[in-house]
Amino acid sequence: MIHTSELEAHERASALSRTSMIHIQDVYKSYGPRSKPKLVLDNVDLSIAPGELVTLVGPSGCGKSTLLKLVLGQELPDSGKLLIEANPAGLADKRRGIVFQQYSLYPHLSVIDNVALGKRLSLPLWQRIAERKQIREEAMFQLRNLGLEEAIGKLPHELSGGMRQRVAVAQSLIMSPKIILMDEPFGALDPGSREHTQIFLLELWEKYKMTVIFVTHDLEEAVFLGTRLVILSQYYSDDRDDDCRRGSRVIQDIALSSRALSTEVKSSPEFNAMIDHVREIGFKPKHRLHVKDFNLSHPNSFRTLPE
Ligand code: ADP
Ligand code: MG
Repeated sequence: MIHTSELEAHERASALSRTSMIHIQDVYKSYGPRSKPKLVLDNVDLSIAPGELVTLVGPSGCGKSTLLKLVLGQELPDSGKLLIEANPAGLADKRRGIVFQQYSLYPHLSVIDNVALGKRLSLPLWQRIAERKQIREEAMFQLRNLGLEEAIGKLPHELSGGMRQRVAVAQSLIMSPKIILMDEPFGALDPGSREHTQIFLLELWEKYKMTVIFVTHDLEEAVFLGTRLVILSQYYSDDRDDDCRRGSRVIQDIALSSRALSTEVKSSPEFNAMIDHVREIGFKPKHRLHVKDFNLSHPNSFRTLPE
């Protein structure tokens, strides 16, 4: 028998699936042999509206990168629904850009060639040749936009870490993706250039309002950057047997207060209280929330399957 609340949840999910940029519903993903699979994602529900900047955190190995690979189309879920603008996510395409922790850069190519390369390769050969000049100009435009004018002719090793990271962002932006997936992109930066790069990302996002999923293990970064914070975790309890091998679920999905483009907020009491809260809820293996007590208060949050 289906309860009314369950029915409501499904109707809500179905409404969200039509308007979302990214819609993940009842998604399971495991790795390993079929006889002994390791369940990583355990019934994940997450719906992201166009223009949200979602920061995703969770204990190491909880499946953050796996979730990004599913959204990118590099991996397929075992089951469940994965939609991009209401269509099955399918294979990777130009609508989805990924920014890695630095170095998707080819060491032997100049900065401008690195930025132009992806665009060139996405075109058929004849067009690649016909549009050579135009692509170069676009790459130039992106680099200028990102304050990398003087780096154009340099090789990656001649740049600072922060600059290389911006080149990696330019590589992604030149494809005009609607979705940008970032997997711990600033992890290798020193604190100073990391902070600059955070502001830079916020400025870009203000300008283009692309939909972003930003994975980080730095809680300060997560609370600072996001409009929404999602915690994925394998540490929770439910009514299954204690020895059940649980995969990760979204255990918290909350709206973050919007902040000015300044790092001053990082010293405010509210900001630090939020970080403490996230650490307590999401990162203490002993502190296991029951599924009933997950905080899924973000307006786009939903949950369909009964517990
Ligand atoms: P996170 O990014 O949160 O640290 P991952 O998504 O990288 O976690 O990995 C989640 C779990 O899935 C880990 O236990 C990891 O070992 C496993 N895993 C990830 N990718 C593969 C793969 N291609 N084959 C087998 N196991 C994998
Ligand atoms: Mg990872």
